[in-house]
Amino acid sequence: MSGQYAPRAETVVDLDALRHNVALLAERAQVPVMAVVKADGYGHGAVPIAKAALEAGATWLGSASATEAVDLRKAGIEAPILAWLYAPGEDLSDAVAAGVDLGVSSVDELRAADGARLHLKIDTGLNRNGCSPEDWPELVKAARDHDVHAIWSHLASADEPGNPSIDRQAGRFDEAYEIAVAEGLQPIRHLANSAATLTRPDLAYDMVRVGIAMYGLNPVPQHEDLRPVMTFRSSVVSTKRTPAGEGVSYGHTWVADRDTTLALVPVGYADGVPRGLSGRFEVSLAGQRRPVVGRVCMDQIVVDCGDDPVSPGDEVILFGPGAHGEPTAREWADKLGTIDYEIVTNMYRPRVRRRYVGASS
Ligand SMILES: *Cc1c(COP(=O)(O)O)cnc(C)c1O
Repeated sequence: MSGQYAPRAETVVDLDALRHNVALLAERAQVPVMAVVKADGYGHGAVPIAKAALEAGATWLGSASATEAVDLRKAGIEAPILAWLYAPGEDLSDAVAAGVDLGVSSVDELRAADGARLHLKIDTGLNRNGCSPEDWPELVKAARDHDVHAIWSHLASADEPGNPSIDRQAGRFDEAYEIAVAEGLQPIRHLANSAATLTRPDLAYDMVRVGIAMYGLNPVPQHEDLRPVMTFRSSVVSTKRTPAGEGVSYGHTWVADRDTTLALVPVGYADGVPRGLSGRFEVSLAGQRRPVVGRVCMDQIVVDCGDDPVSPGDEVILFGPGAHGEPTAREWADKLGTIDYEIVTNMYRPRVRRRYVGASS
C-alpha cells in the first residue's frame, strides 16, 4: 500500500460487508429487520449505513434520539424509523411531522408523542426505560385512541445464551401483549437485539432490531459468519533510528533496549486510540504486527519496527476485520475491559475522515 494513498487517520467503512451481515441476519430472523443506526451508526455514519442496510433487505431503521431520526429524514430516507429516547419535556413535533414512529414508555411520553405512530415499550426486566408492568394497564388504556403500531421491549442478557433472564423477560413480554390485546390493541411485537436474533429465533416475533452484528461484530460466543465493517487506518509519517537507552514518548515509560527504528504514526487519543492501551497494544504496520511503545499521546503514537526497512507512507492498521492478522476492535475491547461497541462508536470523531468502500453505484 506504500506510496499510493496515505491518510493521516481514517475509518474505512465496508458497505459490502454491512450488506452481507444484514442479509445474514434477515435470513436468520425470517421476519422484518430494523437496522439500528443510533450514535451515528455506531460510529460508522448513520446515513450511508441506513441506506446500505435498506438495500440489503432491512425495512426499518432505529435511532435512539428523535433528532437522529429527523436527520435521517432530512437525508431523504423514507423507510419507517423508530426513535425512543427523549429529553424531559422535549418538543417532538419535528419528529411527528417527519413521520417518525416514537417509542413510548409512560403516559407523559404518550402526550408528548401526540400525533405520531407509537410503539409502547414494556420494561420486562432491563429496568432502564420502558413502562413498568404495574403501570402497563394504564398506559395501554390511555393509548387506545392513539395509533399504536407495536409493543416492544429490550433484553438485558441476550449475549449470554441460556441466561434465565431471557425466558423470564419473554414471559413478561407475552403477558404485556395479552393485556394490550385485551384492551383492543392489535400491535406487532419486537424484542430481539443482535444477540437474540442469532441465538433465539423463537423470540423474533414480528421484527428484530439489529445493531452490533450488522456492523460485523459478534455479540455471542458461538462462531458467526459476520464481516467487521470498520477498519481504522493511518500511515507512517516519519521514521527515526534510535539508539539503545533512549526513552520514548511522555514519561519515558518505554526505553529502547537495543538500537531500533521507530515509526511515528499521526493518530492519538483525540482520534480514538485509547490512552489506556499505552504499552500494551500492537498495530499492523507495513503488513506486520508491531508493538506501539510508550504512551499514547493526543495526536501521535510510536511503533517499534526493529531493523525492518519501514518508510513514511507505509500503511498502519489500528484495527480491522482481522482477516490478515491485524488487530480487531474486539482485541482492543478485551484489553480495556470493555465491549467492541464502545470501540467503534468512539470513532465518531470530526478529525478522523470516513471513507466508504463497496458503495453501490
Ligand atoms: C441499541 C439497541 C438495539 C441494538 O442492539 P445490538 O446489541 O447492537 O443489536 C436494539 N434495541 C434497542 C432498544 C437498542 O437500544
